[in-house]
Amino acid sequence: MLRIGLTGGIGSGKTTVAKIFEVLGVPVYYADASAKRLMNEDPVMRQRIITAFGEESYINDKLNRPYLASVVFSDPEKTKLINSFIHPATLADAAKWMDLQKSPYAVKEAALIFEAGAEKHLDLVIGVQAPFELRMQRAMERDNISEDAVRSRMEKQMDEAEKMSRCDILINNDEKELLIPQVVVIHEQLLKNIERLHC
Ligand code: ATP
Repeated sequence: MLRIGLTGGIGSGKTTVAKIFEVLGVPVYYADASAKRLMNEDPVMRQRIITAFGEESYINDKLNRPYLASVVFSDPEKTKLINSFIHPATLADAAKWMDLQKSPYAVKEAALIFEAGAEKHLDLVIGVQAPFELRMQRAMERDNISEDAVRSRMEKQMDEAEKMSRCDILINNDEKELLIPQVVVIHEQLLKNIERLHC
């Protein structure tokens, strides 16, 4: 089975693209949702977070996201520390999930593929690209946040052009080119190549 990564900057539309793959019957692993689940449920992760950031990190057994965000995101060293807990745990969880899939290929959707070194565990990475203004507008509208708040999130990620240059296949989500046909073409090419590999 082929392991495919799907990435892009904030507001690029990678989750939207991932849902199209799902409609085509492709299993999708959502790294962000899995990281949140692991932070809530994984006992080793919970203990690490409590030791590093205090008991306030959980309220009634649930992750105290506003507290953690306020502590972690203002301090690059703390961001690095929490990522050193989250990234390896999510990589291992995604690898376990990939091993269980029975389809010709499966997709891992993640904002931070190259930042987390996840590309080493993937056969191909698809990048979703969109102009900066559009990404900004989408993220502001979706999360109801200011331009400054989106900018500060963007600054924590790899430069968009650099990220796209590292991808093997690109999808344009500039609202000029239709998204669904681009995904269908990639899907068909992947299936054809996988079939050829097995002949
Ligand atoms: P993030 O990394 O911030 O979670 P993302 O890359 O996963 O973002 P999405 O959540 O898929 O991006 O898209 C951001 C917003 O833009 C969503 O509200 C989505 O519905 C909207 N959007 C994405 N692509 C399009 C499109 N082609 N046309 C209209 N709206 C779009």
